[in-house]
Amino acid sequence: MAELIKRAAELLVQSRHAIALTGAGISTESGIRDFRGPDGIWTKNPEAERKAYQSYARFLANPKEYWIERLTGPSLLGDIHRAEPNPGHRALAELEHLGLLKCVITQNIDNLHQKAGSKRVLDYHGNIARLRCASCDTRYDPSEFDLEKMLAEDRLPPICRACNGVIKSDVVHFHEAIPSDVARESQEEAERCDLMLVCGTSAVVYPFAYLPRMARHGGFGRKTTVIEVNAEPTPLTEEGISDFLIQGKTGVILPRLVDEVKKIKSR
Ligand code: NAD
Repeated sequence: MAELIKRAAELLVQSRHAIALTGAGISTESGIRDFRGPDGIWTKNPEAERKAYQSYARFLANPKEYWIERLTGPSLLGDIHRAEPNPGHRALAELEHLGLLKCVITQNIDNLHQKAGSKRVLDYHGNIARLRCASCDTRYDPSEFDLEKMLAEDRLPPICRACNGVIKSDVVHFHEAIPSDVARESQEEAERCDLMLVCGTSAVVYPFAYLPRMARHGGFGRKTTVIEVNAEPTPLTEEGISDFLIQGKTGVILPRLVDEVKKIKSR
């Protein structure tokens, strides 16, 4: 593993436009369970997966009921608002600070990259710390609405001030389109990068999983290096989309990668 980390550090230092892609695996060390790992929420409770697939249809059919359920029911991911970033999140923030990482595109909704200090984060599946109008995509800070009071006064759902559309969580549900601004910027980054660090994702959720494939194949003769950091091999490993896999925990490997990068830069 040490040799692979050194190799990744060399490639990172030589890169012109490196970006990171992250998934639920990078946040398991912050106490948020993933979906498909050995202890994943779907792995242990297939019924929860079936229900999650219906969330968006429930919102469209009855936004008021959707909001009542959100405000009164249990959260699938536990007390996610209290979670803190771990050394993996902090390492990616440090790589950005060192000028080596241009952005993080994350499937996670937990806001932990921002809490760790990453500046340019594209929340591909939205962010739990925001609300979004389902019609015009205007984002809101939840504190702009007194949701508990609205629940008590039977005034749900919240309504968009820009277009009078219905507001939902910013989190992208299954069967819901990726907000167009984030989808466009993520595609541009995937086409532009010459190195992609793919961390803690099973790479089976689409369209996110197209991004490494786009980086690998989309570059008009340009060679993009794709490096995975994951607890187990993924379809990217098996299909040869990634150049190599550094197998293990992101909270261990990414800080070691930062150490190696610093050693190279200080030579
Ligand atoms: P996934 O659950 O499908 O896969 C996670 C992968 O990370 C697995 O391959 C697992 O073996 C690996 N992993 C687990 N812990 C790891 C660690 N410490 N270090 C390295 N690898 C580790 O996750 P996904 O690919 O991100 O897809 C799940 C979907 O669910 C995403 O769309 C995401 O939006 C959502 N989700 C988000 C959160 C979150 O915000 N933290 C949590 C669960 C699910």
